[in-house]
Amino acid sequence: MKERVYLSSPHMGGEEMKYINEAFDTNWIAPLGKNVTEFEKEMCDYIGRPYAVALSSGSAAIHLGLKYLGVKKGDIVFCSSFTFSGSCNAIDYVGATPVFIDSEVDSYNMSPKALEKAYKKYPNPACVIIVDLYGNPADYDSLLAITKAHNTPVLEDSAESLGSQYKGVKTGNFGDVSIFSFNGNKIITTSGGGMIMVNTKEAHDKILFWATQSRENFPWYQHEEIGYNYRLSNICAGIGRGQMKVLDTRVAQKRKIFDIYSECFKDNKYISMIAEPKDCRANHWLSGITLSKDCKVGFMDIINALAEHNIESRPAWKPMHTQPVFKNCDFFSHNDYGESVCEDLFRRSVCLPSDSKMTEEQVRYVAKIINDLVK
Ligand SMILES: *Cc1c(COP(=O)(O)O)cnc(C)c1O
Repeated sequence: MKERVYLSSPHMGGEEMKYINEAFDTNWIAPLGKNVTEFEKEMCDYIGRPYAVALSSGSAAIHLGLKYLGVKKGDIVFCSSFTFSGSCNAIDYVGATPVFIDSEVDSYNMSPKALEKAYKKYPNPACVIIVDLYGNPADYDSLLAITKAHNTPVLEDSAESLGSQYKGVKTGNFGDVSIFSFNGNKIITTSGGGMIMVNTKEAHDKILFWATQSRENFPWYQHEEIGYNYRLSNICAGIGRGQMKVLDTRVAQKRKIFDIYSECFKDNKYISMIAEPKDCRANHWLSGITLSKDCKVGFMDIINALAEHNIESRPAWKPMHTQPVFKNCDFFSHNDYGESVCEDLFRRSVCLPSDSKMTEEQVRYVAKIINDLVK
């Protein structure tokens, strides 16, 4: 390819500059301003949840979400292992210890069976972080039945699943606290940013307070708690407002890319798509494939072959419990013996370029390179 094909790069809709210019014209450059409040309102309307706080990143949202749910030093937090480190770094920020949970094969998301096993050893986790991997909603009926039975609050990491639905309900509605990311690689971006969604005004106000340096209501700067500088800027929120206008278009484009790949690989017995779980409508943020166990071609062979054509692809997220930084953390496998599900999937999967700017021809070209290699 003459022009590099990306995994998922920023894709502006056209109206972003209008909102940025408004911020400049009114000198609302500081964090705070109309774009921030409007962006929050638009997200609330889109997701169907009453309160949102726009923050500087998805990671900041997870940090304040854990804090709001009362997670503190010495606590245990269960978290999907098959995810990006942003899901679990904040567990350490609050002084708690992550315990990682394996995936199930259908959705690649948290395995209810592995979660049950974790509760046998740790009956009182302070929180469960459930991730919607690559835009595929987790199995919320099964998972929330378990967390409710144990009275554990849930933080839904829907960073990758904005626009996805589980049984007709948008992701971002399933956690006591849910978060989104607007990092540059996500389905829409503010160049960097995040959002936390909650159900009560009390939760909203508390999170906003922490995110703006915990300033008490005094004439001078009075602080009774540790604060954070985590607010999204009015400039970035302007990009977000422009992006909200094209969110549904981006979902449609990503779904189309997935459909083309699916068609191209349907006769290749070594390749299966990371499919949409039953009763779900995924945003297909990243289209991914998994190679069959008897496939002679390795995931790095595919990535290297695509790189030779100036095409970006990636391995799946390397499971968190296999990361050196988390090597002392406990992990619960879905399988009773042998390798865990997520380690097996990691070794056989590739995230394919899923950039919403890709043409149908480019998607078919990527698939052809792979089909020529894997046969
Ligand atoms: C991107 C991402 C995050 C972190 O979001 P940032 O905005 O990059 O801090 C957290 N969890 C998952 C699953 C992500 O993909």
